[in-house]
This record gives sequence, structure tokens and C-alpha cells, in this order.
Amino acid sequence: MMNEFDHRVLGEKYNLFSFFKEGPGLPFWLERGLRIKNALIDYWRVVHKENDYEEIQSPILLDKELWKKSGHCDYFEENMYFSSIEKRDFAIKPMSCPGAILVFNQKKRSYAELPLRIAELGHVHRNENSGSLHGLMRARSFMQDDAHIFCRREQLLSEVKKIMQLIFKIMHHCELSDYHFELSLRGVAKKEYLGKDDEWSLAENVLEQALVDLKLPVKKNLGEAKFYGPSLDLHIKDIHGRFWQCSTIQLDFNLPARFEICYFDENGQRQVPFMLHRAIYGSLERFIGILLENFGKELPFWMHPVQYKIVSVSERINDYAVEVGNSLKMKGLHVDLDLSDRPLKEKIKRFHEDFIHSLIILGEDEKARRLISVKRRGRGPQEAVSLENLVRES
Ligand SMILES: [Zn+2]
Repeated sequence: MMNEFDHRVLGEKYNLFSFFKEGPGLPFWLERGLRIKNALIDYWRVVHKENDYEEIQSPILLDKELWKKSGHCDYFEENMYFSSIEKRDFAIKPMSCPGAILVFNQKKRSYAELPLRIAELGHVHRNENSGSLHGLMRARSFMQDDAHIFCRREQLLSEVKKIMQLIFKIMHHCELSDYHFELSLRGVAKKEYLGKDDEWSLAENVLEQALVDLKLPVKKNLGEAKFYGPSLDLHIKDIHGRFWQCSTIQLDFNLPARFEICYFDENGQRQVPFMLHRAIYGSLERFIGILLENFGKELPFWMHPVQYKIVSVSERINDYAVEVGNSLKMKGLHVDLDLSDRPLKEKIKRFHEDFIHSLIILGEDEKARRLISVKRRGRGPQEAVSLENLVRES
């Protein structure tokens, strides 16, 4: 049942995103919704640069042979889309991992390059059955903020902890605080899993040690590991009390073996690196769905698609309203102006009905004193600030 906090209702009502019968489960981002997505991407790029990630972009379509080699055709084929061109079979990527491997393998790698962190905002497609589709939360195409980290055994623990710190930083910036990690381990049924016992023990111990070092509770799900390695997953609780898995940190014994990836150590010896997959937002579409259901119109200011609505009290104020609007737009903020001759009361009513963060009301007094009255959603009465201060603090 849909309610007013349902992201599908918000998306349609405020023109954030859309679905069409021509593309079931395939979301279209509209202007306002795309602003949210782009704000998340812009921030992601800044923090990943700070944390020494290299960003790449691999093609959406690659030869089917690659997906046979990676094992996706054995384990994931029913969720994949395929195409054929000039009698050659291609697959549309459901994940970005094999692309990152091709990039790693493109040249001879030295120990001095490790840890090598290759990140990608990959546009992936997965065929979910139609009954399980759920707006942005479960879609057939989405953007995944993937990264693959190639490192040495002794770098593994610090890399896992760095990823966890990055997860905390990003969740904090997104104003999300209700989440916890869960460990997915191999459990007793060992025979279905790839990789050697000592590698599994090492990998499972590293993930658990990272939780212990960061003083976090250890919740183990035995038998929940992927066939290729254990993982540490972040579960975010939404406003309805449902948990959604977003961030994930996974160790992989499968792809390094299948693609025979290697680096050369200090002695010129060939070594197999450890490979970590990780995503922080997970699917950006799902992450935005969770944000919308949690915050509704009160999305954090920095990612809000309409940060200010400016209304003028009368036509005589319109020149000042345009000046204020331009100053805020110059800072990259999203600003709507209402310079119509509608009564102020109606302009304010429209603000409350729309998907807008803060309201700026400009009258004779504000114009004369070059002040701005700001009414912020979810906060008390209006505040009066100077234009310079507002631009600086926004
Ligand atoms: Zn991956």
C-alpha cells in the first residue's frame, strides 16, 4: 500500500523521476530528481579523490566471453540482458567487476602500486522478475558506486577499515544514523565455496577484526557468504522500520583466480593480490528511495533539488529578488523565483505544497536594508540575514 512518504508517491507528485510502460523497472530521472542524484555523485567524487581512488568508466556492453570467464554466466545469467551484433554475443553488464579486472590486467603491476583503488559509477542492468519490482528500491537499471581494491595480504585490514571510515563519513554527511553492519560468513557447508580454507579464515578474520578495532558489535550470518568470499554489509533502517542493504565490502577469491591477476613483489616474484569489492551508496536509485522515504521534503540542504524559493511581496521588489536569486545560483544552488503578482499568502501556500527546502520572502524593508528573510523547513520563525552571509553560508 502506498502512503504519502512512499518514494514512488513523492517521485510522481514532485516530478523527481518516472517510469513508463515502455521500460518496466527502468527509471527515468527528471530534472529535479537528477539534481539529487548529481549532488550525491559530486560529493562522492570529492571524498573518493581525498581517499586516493582512481575513477574509471567501463562500457555497458562487453563480449559474452568475458562474462563466461568471470563466472557471471554460470551464476547470474538469468538476471542478465544479452545482445548480438555481427554474430558476436554481448552482455549488458550487471556489475562493473570484470571491467575493473581488465583495467588492472592491462599492464604489468608492481607492489609499489598497491593498494590500487579503482572506482566506477557503473550503470548496471539486472533482470529482476516483474513481481519484485518496487520503484527505485528494486529497479532493473541503476547506478552502482562500485570500487575494486587490489592489495597485499598485510594491507587488507587497513583497507577494510578505511572503507568503513569512508562509509561513516558519507552516511553522516547524508544525515543517516540508524544503521549497522552484518558479517556474512561461510558457515559449515564449505563445499560450494571457492577458495582455500586458509584464505577464507584470513578473510573472515580480517572483516571481524575490523569491526572489533572500530568497537562495533559483531553480528554474524553463518552460511550467508557469497560463493566467492565473505562480506561485511551495512543495513540501513528506513522510517517504516524496514532494513535495506546499501554499503557492502566483499572479499573475492573467484575473479583473481579466473583472470590470473598478479603483481610483482620486491623480489620480482609473481604474487596474487587480494581483491575487495565495495559499494557505499550501493544502488544510487535505492539510496535516493531511502533518503526520500526518510526525509521527504526535508532532504539535507546540500542534496535538495530546490534549495530556495524566492518570493517578492510586490513587483517593486522584483529587481532585488532577481539579484538575490542570481547570487545564490552563481554558487551552484538550485533556486526558484516567484515574481508573479499573486497574493503573498498564496505564494507561501504554494511553497508549503511544493518540494522546496527554504523560503525567502523579500519586501520593501529587506530591499532597503539589503537583508534576506529566510524560512527554513522544519525550523522555527524566519531569520533575517545579509545577502553576503546567506551566500557564504549556503
Ligand atoms: Zn565488483
